[in-house]
Amino acid sequence: MPRPTAVEQQLRARARELLEKREVAGVLGFRAGTLPGTCVPFLATEPGDADRLVLNRDCAANLAAWLPRLRHRGRIAVVARGPDSRSIVNLVKENQVERDRLHIIGVADPDDTQPVRNPVVFDEFLGERAPDSPPDDYADIREFEALPPAERWQALLDELSRCIRCYACRQVCPNCYCPTCFVDASRPAWVGRTPDPSDNVLFHMVRAIHMAGRCVECGACAKACPIGIPLMIINRKVSLIVRDRFGSVPGTDPDAPLPLTAFDSEDREEFIR
Ligand code: SF4
Ligand code: SF4
Repeated sequence: MPRPTAVEQQLRARARELLEKREVAGVLGFRAGTLPGTCVPFLATEPGDADRLVLNRDCAANLAAWLPRLRHRGRIAVVARGPDSRSIVNLVKENQVERDRLHIIGVADPDDTQPVRNPVVFDEFLGERAPDSPPDDYADIREFEALPPAERWQALLDELSRCIRCYACRQVCPNCYCPTCFVDASRPAWVGRTPDPSDNVLFHMVRAIHMAGRCVECGACAKACPIGIPLMIINRKVSLIVRDRFGSVPGTDPDAPLPLTAFDSEDREEFIR
């Protein structure tokens, strides 16, 4: 067991204090997983649980995804890095969590590949802020867009045909909280349930549309995929469209309306003509 880092020590001490004083019903963070190099979401509910909390680059999940499921537990403290906090901002706007029932413990994301590493909202901050990352130029997406359309389509088809429809990507996504997902509906059945390539494409395209203006590019879905399908190509393409069309970077402005739920006469709409 590695020695806890300075921020882990602070986090454990603070979680223990919050639980001892009964200021929260639980502290949502991460603990080490059963496999080496993995971490899993963990709700500490007793002061003695606090020493199990960890924070490192193996913490792949977006903790905001667990918050709607914990609504019935009362006031919850949640460890929030940049992406978790951006999803919390979105979930508050979408009325899925109540801001005043959260205590947000902000920390810098140990993952330095994240463009937004520092939390955008928090009630207290532990450790040191991460240096600002350079603006995302979406070079990977622009490179993909430069391919001929037939080549792009074939590349997507090749990847999505490998999907086994386990829905791990959906389960870990903070944006997927519908009581009945469209893929599970039977009346009407919007999409076939077997991993047929055309149904796979439909699943992923509808999911991509549902992510527009909401995806915070945390990468949790791609990391959860057991097949290793590069889902971030789709998610980042959608994010780029939203950024170009609406000037919106989801979850970074708690006061801004969600781009696809607000009408603005200045929205670019030449594609409708
Ligand atoms: S779709 Fe976006 S917000 Fe959801 S898990 Fe994937 S990267 Fe994160
Ligand atoms: S996690 Fe991967 S295999 Fe499972 S449904 Fe999502 S894309 Fe398909």
